[in-house]
Amino acid sequence: MDLKDYKNVWVFIETARGEVRNVGLELLNQGRVLAGANNEKLVAVIIGKDLDAAAKTVTAYGADEVILVEGEEYKDYNTDGYTNAMVKLSEKYKPAAILFGGTIQGRDLAPRISCRLKTGCTADCTDLAVNAETGDIEWTRPAFGGSIMATIVCSQTRPQVGTVRPGVFKKAQPDDSKTASIIREEIRTPAEEIRTKLVDFIKSAEEAGVKLEEAEIVVSGGRGLGKPENFAIIKELADVLGGAVGASRAAVDAGWISPLRQVGQTGKTVGPKIYFACGISGAVQHLAGMSSSKIIVAINKDPEAPIFDVADFGVVGDLFEVIPVLIEEFKKIKA
Ligand code: FAD
Repeated sequence: MDLKDYKNVWVFIETARGEVRNVGLELLNQGRVLAGANNEKLVAVIIGKDLDAAAKTVTAYGADEVILVEGEEYKDYNTDGYTNAMVKLSEKYKPAAILFGGTIQGRDLAPRISCRLKTGCTADCTDLAVNAETGDIEWTRPAFGGSIMATIVCSQTRPQVGTVRPGVFKKAQPDDSKTASIIREEIRTPAEEIRTKLVDFIKSAEEAGVKLEEAEIVVSGGRGLGKPENFAIIKELADVLGGAVGASRAAVDAGWISPLRQVGQTGKTVGPKIYFACGISGAVQHLAGMSSSKIIVAINKDPEAPIFDVADFGVVGDLFEVIPVLIEEFKKIKA
């Protein structure tokens, strides 16, 4: 393998029913930095059906080139079809790097593709940079239970493949006047090669409402809530603010709320404008998922709780007294 044959930074653009998911747009913004450092192109790759609108979106968010693979077999995400398309594209175009979201799709696809292409994959990154001397991507991710941040390079093989959690990077401002070259690739995956079949699509109650990773305001509850019913107060505050509900792992492990709501190293990464941590101590694994929030508000009865070290606003007090007052005040502002 001659590494010099491999050029450009690709971002796999995840779509859900034709709509571009935020994580791909966030990765385009950081992908631009990586591509710029090596004077390479930033390429968005989209697989699906009827992708014209998605191609427009990624162009506005800064892709230089868009590669589209369209077909009935790609209408809904499936591991076999998407793997086949991505591997064929990579073999043809030889990208230097492929970035995936650290989502269900990305976590499914990235290791499979890296394995087929006999290259490495760095999962769940929280930062990406380029080594100025070698041009290799430096993939940073928590290791040893979050006690250290490890920087990993894939120096011997190409493409460099990795997943990055949603919310780690910010999206750029879209610019509708931007243009990109659109390449349509005809890649077929025979039906018999697709071993899974989407029988039905049922939106879970947890998925309804504001999406945690995309919310501008997140209100999270922890063990300080004491029992599952008390999440009602968190939900009420989130509803008043038009935000989403999050949780610490302690609350999730206690069975008080769905794991889909967990924020942190082994949960979701969020980067809202305002993050409320209610009855959450601020363990390093929780901070790993929310410390890039613009404003952090902590409510905790223990003045020594580590969450206050990262909070912009801290209220030392009983959350059952503080939150109802906040709800009333926010209601007044809204009225
Ligand atoms: P606690 O640490 O028990 O804190 C509860 C807080 O509530 C206390 O600070 C207390 O003062 C306060 N409190 C109690 N009653 C009230 C009240 N009435 N009013 C106001 N405040 C009150 N954790 C995560 O959150 N996300 C992760 O993704 C995650 N991943 C992990 C991965 C690994 C490998 C490991 C080892 C751990 C992980 N953890 C994660 C667990 C983490 O270490 C902590 O145990 C967890 O975050 C603690 O949750 P908590 O803050 O809700 O509970």
